[in-house]
Amino acid sequence: MELFVSLLAEFGKTLIGTAPYVIVCAIAFPVLTHYFACNPDQKPWWQRDGLVTDICYWFVVPVLTRFLRIGLAVLGAALIFGVHGEKELVAFYDNGHGPLSELPFWFQLVLYLVVSDFLLYWSHRLFHGVKLWRYHAIHHATEDVDWISAARFHPVNLSLGTVIVDVVLLLSGITPAVLAILVPFNVLMSAFVHANLNWTLGPFKYVIASPVFHRWHHTALDRGGNKNFASTFPVLDLMFGTFYMPAHELPSDYGIGEPGFPTTFGAQLLYPLKDKPQPSIVPAMDAGGMVPEADTPAPARASAES
Ligand SMILES: [Zn+2]
Ligand SMILES: [Zn+2]
Repeated sequence: MELFVSLLAEFGKTLIGTAPYVIVCAIAFPVLTHYFACNPDQKPWWQRDGLVTDICYWFVVPVLTRFLRIGLAVLGAALIFGVHGEKELVAFYDNGHGPLSELPFWFQLVLYLVVSDFLLYWSHRLFHGVKLWRYHAIHHATEDVDWISAARFHPVNLSLGTVIVDVVLLLSGITPAVLAILVPFNVLMSAFVHANLNWTLGPFKYVIASPVFHRWHHTALDRGGNKNFASTFPVLDLMFGTFYMPAHELPSDYGIGEPGFPTTFGAQLLYPLKDKPQPSIVPAMDAGGMVPEADTPAPARASAES
């Protein structure tokens, strides 16, 4: 009963915390898409297939990841630093700890952005490998990439991505206020890069991720499907040889082209736990990076992607 009440309370917090972003996006992006659509024929968010599934990802999954983030932070503090007890934990995490917490706040902000993007880049690449692909396939399965599909992530994908990265940075001593202040940036940035917009950000395309940059990531393996892994800074893709933004061309045809891929929230959560990966459609990773399977017909994932 106690667990149910605290789950309900966390759900309420998530609802109140997330709703403003969703409302802003729901109004702003259709207006922008009207003038600057990347794929003019794509349905607006209110007519899209899987709208209920999208909404579940926005409001239900964060409840789970919030519990996990707190649990891992508590466990890490106990195991690594021997910190036990509520008061001690609050004191430990209140303003950070160690040398990192002594750095100027703005420097910690920049440090968090750079380090977390670097770690998330590699986590994202791992999820494009054979072993983890089925967890990440959920994010790529939608054929209409839009701001509202930005939240489609399996909890396992989030746990080994943003959650673990946040906990690692907190345990290294960074001030928790840094994470809190960047929540709006992270949420809106994620929605922005998935929005149906033809923006490349011109000369800044290497500096900050754009909708065209990330929409290419949702295309077939022989196009951008194994490129553009960075969440915020495309320079990471430049550094590691995965940058893909062909000039004078816009991405289209998203999805993974897997017949019978589940469309409901519950079925998608269970999807990675069932069946074995199908080598004909999962991406593979070689020493030089992510490449399509040698015998993979590229159009296998060409017909659609979020
Ligand atoms: Zn991906
Ligand atoms: Zn995406």
